[in-house]
Amino acid sequence: MIYQLPKLNYSYQALEPYIDAKTMEIHLIRHHQAYINNLNTVLDKYPQYKDKKVEDLLSDFENIKMDDKDKTFFKNNAGGTINHNLYWEIMGPKKEIDESLSSEIKQEFGSVSEFKKLFAEIAVKHFGSGWAHLVRNQAGKLEVYSLPNQNSPYLNGHTPIIALDVWEHAYYLKYQNRRAEYIEAWWNVLKLL
Ligand code: MN
Repeated sequence: MIYQLPKLNYSYQALEPYIDAKTMEIHLIRHHQAYINNLNTVLDKYPQYKDKKVEDLLSDFENIKMDDKDKTFFKNNAGGTINHNLYWEIMGPKKEIDESLSSEIKQEFGSVSEFKKLFAEIAVKHFGSGWAHLVRNQAGKLEVYSLPNQNSPYLNGHTPIIALDVWEHAYYLKYQNRRAEYIEAWWNVLKLL
């Protein structure tokens, strides 16, 4: 498969004032595109993996046969590709509340606002570049944690549901070093909750 940038069903301006248009544009067409290009490049070298889903490859990462350098490059860029795909997908200018997810979150974390508090705290405290994730683990249970760089929850065999990019490129133009403000604003553009 040749990976391509997803077509967003909202404009770069659509998430203003919470996420500015310039950040959206640069984030998508430079940062995300670079991960996609790199993923395609490394998969070109290993045609045996080209028709597999990267989610499945990451879930079975230890069994992937690549040179060490390529394997790390694959992990970073496959993660970068699918982490961003999910991030764009779950955001939007209009709420599309996922009722079944909300009720599951209530059961697991007490309430949606308790969940948001926990998730935001993990995202704010994550040291350096990375992502905060709500995932479903192998037992089907929801979990919240952060991962460094572009590591994907699929590496743990977990399915990501909500992904929040806390790399500085996701917020620096508008929020500079104020990550907590970006996260607080971000709840407004997360469609699902
Ligand atoms: Mn990013």
